[in-house]
Amino acid sequence: MVDDAKKRRGKRPSASAEAHPPVTTHRQTAPNETSHTKPPLAAPGVTPSMAQFLEIKAANPDCLLFYRMGDFYELFFEDAVAAAQALGIVLTKRGKHLGEDIPMCGVPIHRADEYLQRLIRQGFRVAVCEQLEDPAEARKRGSKAVVRRDVVRLVTPGTLTEDSLLDAKARNYLTAVFDGPRGSGGDASAAVMLALASLDISTGEFEVGEVAAADLPGEIVRLSPSEVIAADRLLGDEHVRRWIDIAGAAATPVPAASFDSLAGERLLKVRLGVADLAAFGAFSRAELAAVGALLKYVELTQIGKAPCLRPPRRATPANRLVIDAASRASLELLRSLGGEKSGSLLGAIDRTVTGPGARELAARLSSPLREPDAIGRRLDAVGYLWGDELLRHDLRGTLRGAPDIARAISRLALQRGGPRDLAAVRDGLASAAACTRILENGGSSIGLPDTLADIAHRLTGCSAPLADILVRALIDAPPHQRRDGGFVRAGFRAELDEARALRDDSRQVMAALEAKYVEASGLKSLKVRHNNILGYYIEVPAAQSRPLMSEPLAATFRHRQTMAGAVRFTTAELVEIEGRIVASADRALALEQDIFGELAAAIAAEEQALGEVGAALAELDCEAGLAELAAEQGYVRPQLDATTAFEIRGGRHPVVEQALKASKAGAFIENDCVLAAAEVTAPTGFDEVTEARLWLVTGPNMAGKSTFLRQNALITVLAQMGSFVPARLAHIGVVDRLFSRVGAADDLARGRSTFMVEMVETAAILNQATDRSLVILDEIGRGTATFDGLSIAWAVVEYLHEVNRCRALFATHYHELTALAGRLAEVANVTMDVKEWRDDIVFLHKVKPGAADRSYGIQVARLAGLPKPVTTRAGEVLALLEKSESKAPDGEALLTDLPLFAAARPKSHVSVAAASPVDDALAALNPDELTPKGALDALYRLKELARRNRDGD
Ligand code: ADP
Ligand code: MG
Repeated sequence: MVDDAKKRRGKRPSASAEAHPPVTTHRQTAPNETSHTKPPLAAPGVTPSMAQFLEIKAANPDCLLFYRMGDFYELFFEDAVAAAQALGIVLTKRGKHLGEDIPMCGVPIHRADEYLQRLIRQGFRVAVCEQLEDPAEARKRGSKAVVRRDVVRLVTPGTLTEDSLLDAKARNYLTAVFDGPRGSGGDASAAVMLALASLDISTGEFEVGEVAAADLPGEIVRLSPSEVIAADRLLGDEHVRRWIDIAGAAATPVPAASFDSLAGERLLKVRLGVADLAAFGAFSRAELAAVGALLKYVELTQIGKAPCLRPPRRATPANRLVIDAASRASLELLRSLGGEKSGSLLGAIDRTVTGPGARELAARLSSPLREPDAIGRRLDAVGYLWGDELLRHDLRGTLRGAPDIARAISRLALQRGGPRDLAAVRDGLASAAACTRILENGGSSIGLPDTLADIAHRLTGCSAPLADILVRALIDAPPHQRRDGGFVRAGFRAELDEARALRDDSRQVMAALEAKYVEASGLKSLKVRHNNILGYYIEVPAAQSRPLMSEPLAATFRHRQTMAGAVRFTTAELVEIEGRIVASADRALALEQDIFGELAAAIAAEEQALGEVGAALAELDCEAGLAELAAEQGYVRPQLDATTAFEIRGGRHPVVEQALKASKAGAFIENDCVLAAAEVTAPTGFDEVTEARLWLVTGPNMAGKSTFLRQNALITVLAQMGSFVPARLAHIGVVDRLFSRVGAADDLARGRSTFMVEMVETAAILNQATDRSLVILDEIGRGTATFDGLSIAWAVVEYLHEVNRCRALFATHYHELTALAGRLAEVANVTMDVKEWRDDIVFLHKVKPGAADRSYGIQVARLAGLPKPVTTRAGEVLALLEKSESKAPDGEALLTDLPLFAAARPKSHVSVAAASPVDDALAALNPDELTPKGALDALYRLKELARRNRDGD
């Protein structure tokens, strides 16, 4: 039997108490020419309900308006046109406004999340307008009264909270970027600092920091927000805008005035519940301004409801491994170049078993650390769990069932939570308690490392009464929605038990009443039924209705409705019992809602402690997952310190290795990489390269150069995020900045593989890399003609060696470059070993000292299936070319005759030369002002200056 008539009301508008107000027809509409999709402003003749709609729509012009009508959200006018197209749903029309048809479409509320998600993905913002009172309430004010409605929430990409709209394993940041009150004429030089504040309102995760303008793209890609808010001016910057797009974020302009540092400070104190922010470190004015705009936007979209806020993570370039945007993409840290998680480093290392654990892992991977001690503490935890398989297994087993506490408490704080969220807190606390027990019992005699002891401590930070009341109050598996009740456990509250008993008794009484009437009338087909409009009624087939309409039964049965095949009646007793059912059901429901409120309040009171429990569970899952990975894949603990050592023995590429394993395509060949070797012993067989900081890697295509380069960058990222690494030994002096570039011709996947982009990115490296940086350059200079490319590659190597003095790996197919090893002290040649077999080659994927003597291009072409006549002919041409080269007039190779290489001999390479007097004199000339004689004089003067300059006098 259906219980409460009120809640089932309003099927489709026809059944709704108030049928489609915005479209009620207008008797006195004046003819007009307004476009039919544009709602004209309120005009005479507009009904009150239409006026209400227009007013709400006018207040939210940049959003699609989801207008609640019974069990549907409906959209009207141009919103309907846009949504129908975006969602592929039927566009209909409903009524007229000022003489024109009104376009309309609707989505049922129980599928609203799904439609919302699709609209948000397509870049729409949605204002959700709810009925704020029961239509019955409105009717009390008069038959024409309009149900009160208002927007309760703006749904934007950066302010989602529903599980169905979010990826459980990904953070959903809203990021405010503040570029300060830029003075007039100030250009975006690298020294300008920008402040960023990011909040995931679905978890309360919160991060504040400053970066140099030049690092903004990297920071945006690192945070990878869903939505960026900033002042118009900043969003107008094409460069900034491009990186926001690449990061996949929506860009939302907000008024410059909302970047108010005083408001930010005040809101932050309130939200964190502190009188002084000092405990969280010092915030700059700019950071507080970004926080101000962020929290203001949250208020605006959540219509005053305040989300949870966890203590801010402070992200500064000084304590992070800085990786710029292009390197992040090229190293495929969180996403492969195709945009997928699979194929990325994250995809290869994720062994977490919970959503929060996966989010923590992704956060650590995108922000590796720089301080050896901080990294060491993480490694201690991973190492401990790696070493104790039983403990790890137990913990992971327990974590597997742990719910997402952070998202549950956030929904509750935003008054969007349901009984399942209460249960998530209950079950989360149970998991936390179980993990603490396992950690404490499983701890060996050495005791837990600090990180794990701290986690165990935070896991128990919540009060026992909270866990207890949730266990007692909630049934095991409560429903999703709170509105229908049925989630409080019997025996929790006597009053509720009473109301429920009464309600259920009355239902039995109703069944008994039916039996009684069947007996009295002798009609076996008599039924007590229920619908939303009539409530309870008695129904008999029309053909048998006569006895009930005639004495004596007519005295009891009152006729209500005649249908096609049936007649409906009621009785005084039925009405009375119905009243009891409705009253007791209402009372039970009201009591459950009260209890929900009490439980939610108890949770809110411990919001910060619960946040810690959730965070500690996430960290534990992340660390146990990394330990599992290390055990499964045979990773080792890296050694990190403040030296500039870089010694990787037996290193492997974490992603390629697993891919090879999965496809059973043979074993991955491990390789050493030893840079800045003064601080380490030479690898066996690498005697001649011990001093090198920069390795030139040559070898034919497909030999494994790119794989080797990347594996060393990825090992660095893994080590500094606090993970074990795929190697037999790794000793890394912490890296401050990591750069990775792939030459344009190799970079087609990004779809913008122009030589220009390659050069812009190379310039960024040369301008930013320090002697603590690690630089990976893969085939730089490919995107242009051979000699250009070779020359650029040559000069770049010299600059890295002389000026940046960073650790670097440089792969190239120009073996001419290998000559540099003889000229530059800290450059060494290594090459990918290949075996020649008759006319074919076999790739050994092994790095060995020395230079490739040839590129094997023809052999590779043969492997690739080029027709035999082509490869044969190519072989002949090559032989010819080689012969002519060796017969160059002065006996030297053709190449060394090039002016560039003559100029590039020691001493003259990389002349960061001061401007010569000739340059100065030239700059001083203004040809427009010269007479013909003056011009001639100037020419003689310049020639003389040039001569003196050359002769050094
Ligand atoms: P290159 O950059 O020299 O053209 P890649 O690094 O792209 O070569 O490698 C080509 C292929 O060789 C890779 O896709 C990978 O499958 C395989 N490969 C590379 N290095 C190794 C290795 N160390 N062990 C096994 N296979 C490897
Ligand atoms: Mg390559």
